[in-house]
Amino acid sequence: CKLCRRVEADPDICGRKCEHQGICAHEFCLFFANGLYREDMRDGVPFEHVRRKIKQAKQKNCFVCGKRRASITCRGMGCDRSFHLPCAAEAGCITQYFPQYRSFCWEHRPEQTVEATPEENTVCIICLVPVEEKKTYGTMVCPACKRTWFHRHCIQNQAIQAGHRCFCCPGCHNEYRFRAEMLTMGIRIPRLPAWESPRAYSALSERHSYCDGGWSLCPGGTEQPEAEGPWQLLLSSSCTAEGTHRRCSALLDSTESWEYDGC
Ligand SMILES: [Zn+2]
Ligand SMILES: [Zn+2]
Ligand SMILES: [Zn+2]
Ligand SMILES: [Zn+2]
Ligand SMILES: [Zn+2]
Ligand SMILES: [Zn+2]
Ligand SMILES: [Zn+2]
Repeated sequence: CKLCRRVEADPDICGRKCEHQGICAHEFCLFFANGLYREDMRDGVPFEHVRRKIKQAKQKNCFVCGKRRASITCRGMGCDRSFHLPCAAEAGCITQYFPQYRSFCWEHRPEQTVEATPEENTVCIICLVPVEEKKTYGTMVCPACKRTWFHRHCIQNQAIQAGHRCFCCPGCHNEYRFRAEMLTMGIRIPRLPAWESPRAYSALSERHSYCDGGWSLCPGGTEQPEAEGPWQLLLSSSCTAEGTHRRCSALLDSTESWEYDGC
């Protein structure tokens, strides 16, 4: 991959590898690369644009592995930390798998806002191994029931298995609030469950038969990873593969649901 410089990378994080005109890159390395994500990526990637971005990224060093060509930079105000997509989790960075495909370093990443602390000896509902004694990058809680605790990697794994139609809190089965919060916290929820996903790589120049980036798009960006207010992510109540920010769909800050009609 021209962007993350890895031959083998976790497809759950980086997506499929695509090749076009001699450029080989992972699907999500492209989506997250600084300034690369555009609305027209729904119909394929503009490759002239990609070439230019790869040149620019050459200069930057990854603050995690130290190697060059770190194409993702933290959106925190004035922050210049850059990294490769496969290096993100190692350093506690959050990458949000929905437009505008924003990324944050460990210092500027969004935190879960729910007031909750695990009781003593609380275990992860998925792997049954104890969680940490408070909310952290690796220990997360359901924002709806506030008592279902799990590890980040365990819930990520579950999201990959379930896909957007079936992913919910493993404790209370809340879907709506749970999915929006997990996406904001950097959990990738693929459109299709693992057993339905196409295994074959497709050229990026072709329209994807399915596309994880196929959200209704937000015209406005923001540097704030907010979990509340105008920049809170709302998922469509009819299809949670679609989402918007309150501000981008001109919704009031008090609006709790939104319906996408293009699905
Ligand atoms: Zn890559
Ligand atoms: Zn790196
Ligand atoms: Zn930062
Ligand atoms: Zn676990
Ligand atoms: Zn729950
Ligand atoms: Zn938006
Ligand atoms: Zn749908």
